[in-house]
Amino acid sequence: MVNTRILVNEFEYFEPKTVAEAVDLLARFGKEAKVLAGGTNLLVDMKLEKVSPKYLIYIGKIPELRSITRAGSDVIIGANVTFFEMMKAAELKDYPLLREAIESVQLEIKRMGTIGGNICNAAPTASAAPPLLALEAKVKLVSKRGSRVIPLEEVFVGDRQTSLAPDELLTEIHIPALDGGCGTAFGEIKRKIKFAAVVSRQGDTCKRCRIAMGGDVERPIRVRNAESLLEGNRVDENTVRSACEAVLAEIDPENWYVREIAQYLFPKVLQEAWERAR
Ligand SMILES: Cc1cc2nc3c(=O)[nH]c(=O)nc-3n(C[C@H](O)[C@H](O)[C@H](O)COP(=O)(O)OP(=O)(O)OC[C@H]3O[C@@H](n4cnc5c(N)ncnc54)[C@H](O)[C@@H]3O)c2cc1C
Repeated sequence: MVNTRILVNEFEYFEPKTVAEAVDLLARFGKEAKVLAGGTNLLVDMKLEKVSPKYLIYIGKIPELRSITRAGSDVIIGANVTFFEMMKAAELKDYPLLREAIESVQLEIKRMGTIGGNICNAAPTASAAPPLLALEAKVKLVSKRGSRVIPLEEVFVGDRQTSLAPDELLTEIHIPALDGGCGTAFGEIKRKIKFAAVVSRQGDTCKRCRIAMGGDVERPIRVRNAESLLEGNRVDENTVRSACEAVLAEIDPENWYVREIAQYLFPKVLQEAWERAR
Protein backbone atom coordinates (compact mmCIF):
# COMPACT_ATOMS: atom_id res chain seq x y z
CA MET A 1 0.00 0.00 0.00
CA VAL A 2 1.25 3.51 -0.77
CA ASN A 3 2.40 5.35 2.34
CA THR A 4 1.05 8.89 2.39
CA ARG A 5 1.12 9.45 6.15
CA ILE A 6 4.55 9.11 7.62
CA LEU A 7 8.13 9.87 6.77
CA VAL A 8 9.77 6.46 6.96
CA ASN A 9 13.40 7.40 6.67
CA GLU A 10 15.34 9.25 9.34
CA PHE A 11 17.06 12.53 8.54
CA GLU A 12 18.86 15.35 10.30
CA TYR A 13 17.03 18.68 10.16
CA PHE A 14 18.57 22.17 9.97
CA GLU A 15 17.08 25.67 10.10
CA PRO A 16 19.72 28.09 8.81
CA LYS A 17 18.98 31.78 9.42
CA THR A 18 21.08 33.15 6.54
CA VAL A 19 21.89 32.20 2.96
CA ALA A 20 25.55 31.82 3.96
CA GLU A 21 24.62 29.23 6.61
CA ALA A 22 22.37 27.39 4.15
CA VAL A 23 25.04 27.12 1.46
CA ASP A 24 27.59 26.03 4.06
CA LEU A 25 25.31 23.12 4.91
CA LEU A 26 24.76 22.32 1.22
CA ALA A 27 28.53 22.33 0.64
CA ARG A 28 29.00 20.01 3.62
CA PHE A 29 26.33 17.46 2.77
CA GLY A 30 26.12 17.74 -1.05
CA LYS A 31 23.90 15.14 -2.70
CA GLU A 32 22.77 13.71 0.63
CA ALA A 33 20.99 16.96 1.50
CA LYS A 34 17.73 18.44 0.23
CA VAL A 35 16.51 21.99 0.52
CA LEU A 36 13.06 22.16 2.12
CA ALA A 37 10.92 25.18 1.19
CA GLY A 38 7.11 24.80 1.42
CA GLY A 39 7.50 21.01 1.33
CA THR A 40 4.47 20.48 -0.92
CA ASN A 41 6.55 18.45 -3.37
CA LEU A 42 9.44 17.28 -1.27
CA LEU A 43 7.49 15.90 1.69
CA VAL A 44 5.15 14.03 -0.66
CA ASP A 45 8.18 12.52 -2.44
CA MET A 46 9.70 11.57 0.91
CA LYS A 47 6.49 9.92 2.11
CA LEU A 48 6.34 7.96 -1.13
CA GLU A 49 10.03 7.08 -0.63
CA LYS A 50 10.96 8.51 -4.02
CA VAL A 51 13.74 10.42 -2.25
CA SER A 52 15.40 9.78 1.10
CA PRO A 53 17.65 12.71 1.99
CA LYS A 54 19.86 12.26 5.05
CA TYR A 55 19.83 16.00 5.72
CA LEU A 56 16.95 18.46 5.34
CA ILE A 57 17.79 22.15 5.13
CA TYR A 58 14.68 24.23 5.80
CA ILE A 59 15.02 27.70 4.22
CA GLY A 60 11.79 29.24 5.54
CA LYS A 61 13.61 31.04 8.38
CA ILE A 62 15.88 33.06 6.08
CA PRO A 63 14.31 36.56 5.94
CA GLU A 64 16.11 37.67 2.75
CA LEU A 65 14.41 34.87 0.79
CA ARG A 66 10.95 36.10 1.80
CA SER A 67 10.82 39.55 0.20
CA ILE A 68 9.85 41.13 -3.12
CA THR A 69 11.99 44.15 -4.00
CA ARG A 70 13.06 46.30 -6.94
CA ALA A 71 16.55 46.72 -8.37
CA GLY A 72 16.51 49.33 -11.16
CA SER A 73 13.67 48.30 -13.45
CA ASP A 74 13.77 44.63 -12.39
CA VAL A 75 11.50 43.11 -9.77
CA ILE A 76 13.28 40.60 -7.56
CA ILE A 77 11.26 37.85 -5.93
CA GLY A 78 12.88 35.95 -3.06
CA ALA A 79 12.87 32.19 -3.64
CA ASN A 80 10.78 31.50 -0.57
CA VAL A 81 7.90 33.84 -1.45
CA THR A 82 4.66 31.84 -1.65
CA PHE A 83 2.16 31.88 -4.50
CA PHE A 84 -0.27 33.59 -2.16
CA GLU A 85 2.20 36.37 -1.32
CA MET A 86 2.90 36.85 -5.02
CA MET A 87 -0.78 37.30 -5.77
CA LYS A 88 -1.06 40.07 -3.17
CA ALA A 89 2.21 41.86 -3.97
CA ALA A 90 1.93 45.46 -5.20
CA GLU A 91 5.38 45.09 -6.83
CA LEU A 92 3.91 42.44 -9.19
CA LYS A 93 0.80 44.34 -10.27
CA ASP A 94 2.43 45.17 -13.63
CA TYR A 95 2.72 41.42 -14.36
CA PRO A 96 -0.89 40.20 -14.58
CA LEU A 97 0.44 37.22 -16.54
CA LEU A 98 1.93 35.76 -13.35
CA ARG A 99 -1.27 36.19 -11.44
CA GLU A 100 -3.34 34.60 -14.23
CA ALA A 101 -1.04 31.58 -14.23
CA ILE A 102 -1.04 30.91 -10.49
CA GLU A 103 -4.67 31.75 -9.87
CA SER A 104 -5.78 28.16 -10.56
CA VAL A 105 -3.43 26.64 -7.94
CA GLN A 106 -5.46 25.27 -5.04
CA LEU A 107 -5.57 27.41 -1.89
CA GLU A 108 -3.52 25.14 0.41
CA ILE A 109 -0.74 24.97 -2.16
CA LYS A 110 -0.90 28.73 -2.75
CA ARG A 111 -0.31 29.23 0.97
CA MET A 112 2.55 26.74 1.34
CA GLY A 113 4.14 26.39 -2.10
CA THR A 114 6.97 28.76 -2.97
CA ILE A 115 8.13 30.17 -6.27
CA GLY A 116 11.63 28.75 -5.71
CA GLY A 117 10.21 25.30 -4.97
CA ASN A 118 8.05 25.49 -8.06
CA ILE A 119 11.10 26.21 -10.23
CA CYS A 120 13.45 23.73 -8.54
CA ASN A 121 10.88 20.93 -8.64
CA ALA A 122 10.94 21.54 -12.41
CA ALA A 123 7.70 19.76 -13.25
CA PRO A 124 6.69 20.33 -16.90
CA THR A 125 3.31 21.43 -15.49
CA ALA A 126 4.81 24.00 -13.05
CA SER A 127 2.35 26.89 -12.89
CA ALA A 128 4.96 29.65 -12.65
CA ALA A 129 7.20 28.33 -15.43
CA PRO A 130 5.47 29.51 -18.65
CA PRO A 131 4.83 33.10 -17.44
CA LEU A 132 8.35 33.44 -16.03
CA LEU A 133 9.88 32.07 -19.25
CA ALA A 134 7.79 34.44 -21.39
CA LEU A 135 8.81 37.32 -19.11
CA GLU A 136 12.47 36.33 -19.65
CA ALA A 137 13.13 35.89 -15.95
CA LYS A 138 16.57 35.11 -14.61
CA VAL A 139 17.48 33.31 -11.42
CA LYS A 140 20.27 33.81 -8.93
CA LEU A 141 22.01 30.66 -7.75
CA VAL A 142 24.31 30.81 -4.74
CA SER A 143 26.81 28.29 -3.43
CA LYS A 144 29.86 28.46 -1.21
CA ARG A 145 31.85 28.73 -4.45
CA GLY A 146 30.14 32.01 -5.43
CA SER A 147 26.98 33.08 -7.23
CA ARG A 148 25.69 33.24 -10.78
CA VAL A 149 22.64 34.73 -12.47
CA ILE A 150 21.33 32.66 -15.39
CA PRO A 151 18.22 32.75 -17.61
CA LEU A 152 15.45 30.63 -16.12
CA GLU A 153 15.34 28.78 -19.44
CA GLU A 154 18.72 27.24 -18.61
CA VAL A 155 17.41 25.80 -15.35
CA PHE A 156 14.91 23.40 -16.94
CA VAL A 157 16.84 20.55 -18.51
CA GLY A 158 14.27 17.72 -18.38
CA ASP A 159 11.20 16.35 -16.64
CA ARG A 160 11.82 17.31 -12.99
CA GLN A 161 15.47 17.92 -13.74
CA THR A 162 17.35 21.17 -13.27
CA SER A 163 20.83 22.37 -14.09
CA LEU A 164 21.46 23.33 -10.44
CA ALA A 165 24.53 21.76 -8.83
CA PRO A 166 23.73 19.87 -5.59
CA ASP A 167 25.41 22.61 -3.52
CA GLU A 168 23.48 25.48 -5.16
CA LEU A 169 20.60 27.36 -3.59
CA LEU A 170 18.19 29.33 -5.75
CA THR A 171 17.84 32.65 -3.92
CA GLU A 172 16.13 35.10 -6.28
CA ILE A 173 14.03 35.38 -9.41
CA HIS A 174 14.68 38.54 -11.45
CA ILE A 175 11.91 39.77 -13.72
CA PRO A 176 12.75 42.56 -16.17
CA ALA A 177 10.33 45.44 -16.76
CA LEU A 178 7.90 44.88 -19.62
CA ASP A 179 8.04 47.04 -22.77
CA GLY A 180 5.50 49.84 -22.48
CA GLY A 181 2.24 48.92 -24.19
CA CYS A 182 2.99 45.21 -24.60
CA GLY A 183 0.17 42.72 -24.16
CA THR A 184 0.34 39.51 -22.15
CA ALA A 185 -1.91 36.47 -21.89
CA PHE A 186 -1.99 33.05 -20.29
CA GLY A 187 -4.16 30.02 -20.92
CA GLU A 188 -4.24 26.41 -19.77
CA ILE A 189 -6.39 23.35 -20.19
CA LYS A 190 -6.44 20.96 -17.26
CA ARG A 191 -2.65 21.13 -16.71
CA LYS A 192 -2.32 19.29 -20.04
CA ILE A 193 -1.20 22.37 -21.93
CA LYS A 194 -0.28 25.88 -20.83
CA PHE A 195 0.78 28.88 -22.90
CA ALA A 196 2.08 32.28 -21.88
CA ALA A 197 2.59 35.08 -24.41
CA VAL A 198 4.13 38.54 -24.21
CA VAL A 199 3.64 40.60 -27.37
CA SER A 200 4.60 44.13 -28.49
CA ARG A 201 3.17 45.55 -31.69
CA GLN A 202 3.72 48.35 -34.13
CA GLY A 203 0.42 48.86 -35.90
CA ASP A 204 -0.41 45.50 -37.45
CA THR A 205 3.12 44.18 -37.14
CA CYS A 206 4.44 42.09 -34.31
CA LYS A 207 7.52 43.91 -33.02
CA ARG A 208 8.56 41.43 -30.33
CA CYS A 209 7.06 38.31 -28.94
CA ARG A 210 7.87 35.72 -26.31
CA ILE A 211 5.97 32.46 -26.18
CA ALA A 212 6.38 29.76 -23.54
CA MET A 213 4.63 26.51 -22.95
CA GLY A 214 4.30 23.81 -20.32
CA GLY A 215 1.99 20.93 -19.46
CA ASP A 216 2.20 17.43 -20.84
CA VAL A 217 5.56 18.11 -22.50
CA GLU A 218 9.12 17.15 -21.62
CA ARG A 219 9.90 20.43 -19.81
CA PRO A 220 8.71 24.02 -19.77
CA ILE A 221 10.19 25.81 -22.82
CA ARG A 222 10.26 28.98 -24.89
CA VAL A 223 8.99 28.27 -28.40
CA ARG A 224 11.57 30.30 -30.29
CA ASN A 225 10.55 29.08 -33.75
CA ALA A 226 7.04 30.38 -33.20
CA GLU A 227 8.42 33.68 -31.90
CA SER A 228 10.59 34.26 -34.97
CA LEU A 229 7.73 33.41 -37.35
CA LEU A 230 5.67 36.18 -35.77
CA GLU A 231 8.27 38.88 -35.14
CA GLY A 232 8.44 41.50 -37.89
CA ASN A 233 5.30 40.12 -39.55
CA ARG A 234 1.62 40.89 -39.63
CA VAL A 235 -0.33 38.79 -37.17
CA ASP A 236 -2.97 37.24 -39.37
CA GLU A 237 -4.48 33.83 -39.98
CA ASN A 238 -1.44 32.63 -41.96
CA THR A 239 1.26 33.67 -39.49
CA VAL A 240 -0.75 32.40 -36.52
CA ARG A 241 -1.17 29.06 -38.31
CA SER A 242 2.58 28.81 -39.01
CA ALA A 243 3.39 29.73 -35.41
CA CYS A 244 0.93 27.09 -34.22
CA GLU A 245 2.72 24.48 -36.36
CA ALA A 246 5.99 25.47 -34.68
CA VAL A 247 4.31 24.93 -31.32
CA LEU A 248 2.99 21.52 -32.38
CA ALA A 249 6.49 20.50 -33.46
CA GLU A 250 7.43 20.64 -29.76
CA ILE A 251 4.69 18.17 -28.75
CA ASP A 252 5.05 14.41 -29.02
CA PRO A 253 3.32 13.35 -32.29
CA GLU A 254 1.75 10.41 -30.38
CA ASN A 255 0.15 12.76 -27.88
CA TRP A 256 -2.89 13.47 -30.04
CA TYR A 257 -5.07 14.85 -27.25
CA VAL A 258 -2.54 17.49 -26.19
CA ARG A 259 -1.94 18.38 -29.85
CA GLU A 260 -5.68 18.88 -30.38
CA ILE A 261 -6.12 21.16 -27.38
CA ALA A 262 -2.88 23.05 -28.16
CA GLN A 263 -4.25 23.86 -31.62
CA TYR A 264 -7.29 25.38 -30.00
CA LEU A 265 -5.56 27.13 -27.09
CA PHE A 266 -2.43 28.60 -28.67
CA PRO A 267 -4.15 30.91 -31.22
CA LYS A 268 -6.56 32.03 -28.48
CA VAL A 269 -3.75 33.01 -26.08
CA LEU A 270 -1.74 34.69 -28.83
CA GLN A 271 -4.75 36.64 -30.05
CA GLU A 272 -5.53 37.77 -26.52
CA ALA A 273 -1.99 39.06 -25.95
CA TRP A 274 -2.11 40.76 -29.36
CA GLU A 275 -5.37 42.54 -28.61
CA ARG A 276 -4.14 43.64 -25.20
CA ALA A 277 -1.00 45.18 -26.78
CA ARG A 278 -1.36 48.82 -27.77
C1 LIG B 1 -2.23 18.63 -3.97
C2 LIG B 1 -1.17 19.35 -4.74
C3 LIG B 1 -1.53 20.25 -5.75
C4 LIG B 1 -0.55 20.92 -6.48
N1 LIG B 1 -0.94 21.80 -7.46
C5 LIG B 1 0.01 22.46 -8.17
C6 LIG B 1 -0.36 23.39 -9.20
O1 LIG B 1 -1.53 23.66 -9.47
N2 LIG B 1 0.64 24.00 -9.88
C7 LIG B 1 1.96 23.75 -9.62
O2 LIG B 1 2.82 24.32 -10.27
N3 LIG B 1 2.33 22.87 -8.67
C8 LIG B 1 1.40 22.23 -7.93
N4 LIG B 1 1.79 21.34 -6.97
C9 LIG B 1 3.23 21.09 -6.78
C10 LIG B 1 3.89 22.01 -5.71
O3 LIG B 1 2.97 22.38 -4.74
C11 LIG B 1 4.54 23.27 -6.31
O4 LIG B 1 5.50 22.89 -7.27
C12 LIG B 1 5.20 24.18 -5.27
O5 LIG B 1 5.49 25.43 -5.84
C13 LIG B 1 6.47 23.59 -4.70
O6 LIG B 1 7.03 24.54 -3.82
P1 LIG B 1 7.49 24.13 -2.36
O7 LIG B 1 7.96 25.39 -1.72
O8 LIG B 1 6.45 23.38 -1.63
O9 LIG B 1 8.74 23.19 -2.72
P2 LIG B 1 9.39 21.98 -1.89
O10 LIG B 1 8.48 20.81 -1.92
O11 LIG B 1 9.86 22.45 -0.57
O12 LIG B 1 10.66 21.72 -2.83
C14 LIG B 1 10.52 21.21 -4.15
C15 LIG B 1 11.91 20.84 -4.69
O13 LIG B 1 12.69 22.01 -4.92
C16 LIG B 1 13.88 22.02 -4.10
N5 LIG B 1 14.00 23.41 -3.64
C17 LIG B 1 13.03 24.17 -3.06
N6 LIG B 1 13.45 25.43 -2.90
C18 LIG B 1 14.74 25.47 -3.37
C19 LIG B 1 15.71 26.51 -3.47
N7 LIG B 1 15.43 27.77 -3.07
N8 LIG B 1 16.92 26.22 -4.01
C20 LIG B 1 17.21 24.96 -4.42
N9 LIG B 1 16.31 23.94 -4.35
C21 LIG B 1 15.09 24.19 -3.83
C22 LIG B 1 13.61 21.02 -3.00
O14 LIG B 1 14.82 20.44 -2.51
C23 LIG B 1 12.75 20.00 -3.74
O15 LIG B 1 13.56 19.15 -4.50
C24 LIG B 1 0.83 20.67 -6.21
C25 LIG B 1 1.20 19.79 -5.18
C26 LIG B 1 0.22 19.13 -4.46
C27 LIG B 1 0.63 18.19 -3.36
